[in-house]
Amino acid sequence: MTDYAVARQRMVAEQLLKRGIQDERVLQAMGKIHRHLFVEEALWARAYGDLPLPIGEKQTISQPFMVAFMTQALELKGNERVLEIGTGSGYQTAILAELAAKVYSVERIRTLAQRAMRRIESLGYYNVLIRVGDGSMGWKEMAPFDAILVTAGAPQVPIRLVEQLGEDGRIVLPVGPSEGQVLRKGTKKGVNVRWTDLGNCVFVKLVGEQGWND
Ligand code: SAH
Repeated sequence: MTDYAVARQRMVAEQLLKRGIQDERVLQAMGKIHRHLFVEEALWARAYGDLPLPIGEKQTISQPFMVAFMTQALELKGNERVLEIGTGSGYQTAILAELAAKVYSVERIRTLAQRAMRRIESLGYYNVLIRVGDGSMGWKEMAPFDAILVTAGAPQVPIRLVEQLGEDGRIVLPVGPSEGQVLRKGTKKGVNVRWTDLGNCVFVKLVGEQGWND
C-alpha cells in the first residue's frame, strides 16, 4: 500500500468512524477517492489531515469529517440526481459521483470549475456535469433534484434551491452570518419543507443573488 492509501484508511477510521459516520457507502467513497489529487502538490502531505485546505481563489476544501457528515445527511442510495453548489476543487463532487446516479455542480469561479472538471474527467467519472454560474439560483433546467448540497454559506436559505427540490428531496446547507453558520437540513414533503439543525459550521461565503453580495 502506498503512504496515501494508509493515510486514507487512517482518516476513515479516526476522523469518520470514531466520530459517528455510519453510512457504509459514504465511508467506502471517502476511503476510495484520492483527496490529495484535489489540492496542489505542496499540500499533499496534509491532504488526509483533520483540517480544511486552501484550493486557490481564497476558497477551501472542507475537512474530511464535514464532507462525510454532509454527504451522509443526503441519504443517497445510488439512483439520485444531485445538485451541488460550490464545486471548488471537485473533491465533494467526486464523492457524490460515487454515491449517486448523476451530479450537477455549479461553481461561480471559472478557473476552479475548469480545474475541477479536468480532475473529474481524468478520474473517469462520466456522470458529472459542471457549470460556471451563480448557484444560489440553482440549475432550473435540470430540476427537480433528489438531493441538493451547498458547500458555501448563505445568509438565509436560497428559495430557488428549495423550489428545485423534488418530493422527499433533501437539501443540506450552511445558513447564517459569515463568521459562523448552522448546518441545516430540509426535507420536502408536498409543499412543505421540514427543517432540522445538524450543528455549527464555518464555510466560505455563497456569493450571488440569493447569497451574499460580492
Ligand atoms: N466543495 C468544495 C469546496 C467548496 S468551497 C470542495 O470539495 O472542494 C466553496 C465554493 O463555493 C468556492 O469554490 C466558491 O467559489 C463557490 N461559490 C461561492 N458562491 C457561489 C455561488 N453563488 N455559486 C456557485 N459557487 C459558489
